[in-house]
Amino acid sequence: MRIDVLTIFPDYLAPVREALLGKAIERGRISVGVHDLRDWTHDVHRSVDASPYGGGPGMVMRPDVWGEALDSVSAVEAATPRLVVPTPAGVPFDQRTARRWAEETRLVFACGRYEGIDQRVIDDAARRMPVEEVSIGDYVLVGGEVAALTMIEAVVRLLPGVLGNPASAEQDSFSDGLLEGPSYTRPETWRGLSVPEVLRSGDHAAVRRWRREQGLRRTWRRRPELLERLSPEELDEHDRAV
Ligand code: SAM
Repeated sequence: MRIDVLTIFPDYLAPVREALLGKAIERGRISVGVHDLRDWTHDVHRSVDASPYGGGPGMVMRPDVWGEALDSVSAVEAATPRLVVPTPAGVPFDQRTARRWAEETRLVFACGRYEGIDQRVIDDAARRMPVEEVSIGDYVLVGGEVAALTMIEAVVRLLPGVLGNPASAEQDSFSDGLLEGPSYTRPETWRGLSVPEVLRSGDHAAVRRWRREQGLRRTWRRRPELLERLSPEELDEHDRAV
């Protein structure tokens, strides 16, 4: 998979070369290009923003600079990319989106700053490539870089050969529509708190059942709306009894 990120703060994307993502690059599972949007400015101040039409506070990112930058970054490879525009006004990003994007060959992230990017950049790009405006949550960040990193990490860990143990992704929260329950490791007793008996029993079926129950209880308490999205077939009799 090829991932490109356009930003006015390329250093913000440094973590993309660290840890699991860095290893994915080393192993050739992904290649990443981080581009400074200001490279496509033509004035001495390298300005990327202007005041908003219609008035109001803040500045808006200029379409001419973004347009050139996107044309040039899209042409880096032949395959048409999916353009991702992080914005608090976007559709919520979730694990299903991450799974869908993990099937793509190319993703381009356009990181906004200030009051965001002139809407015509998105409308124009949509004439040539699939475009998604997505939010990582109901809060407002100062820029799209952290949102892009969040989404890149969620997608890349799903690519084959990236996680040491692929079963981890299969058992994570949201894989079966539920939150994952609590996890424990050594020592068996710590500060007077013991690891639940069943996890030490060696009874794999009982462990599976216990984990499912814990996931259901946690989901019920913290994210009840997730349970409503499950189809009747996704819940068995035991689940209903919990
Ligand atoms: N005026 C915009 C609004 O109210 O919808 C907020 C702009 S925000 C200050 C600047 C940039 O941060 C956005 O263009 C976007 O790239 C990023 N951003 C902020 N919050 C975000 C969120 N929850 N999800 C994704 N991107 C976000």
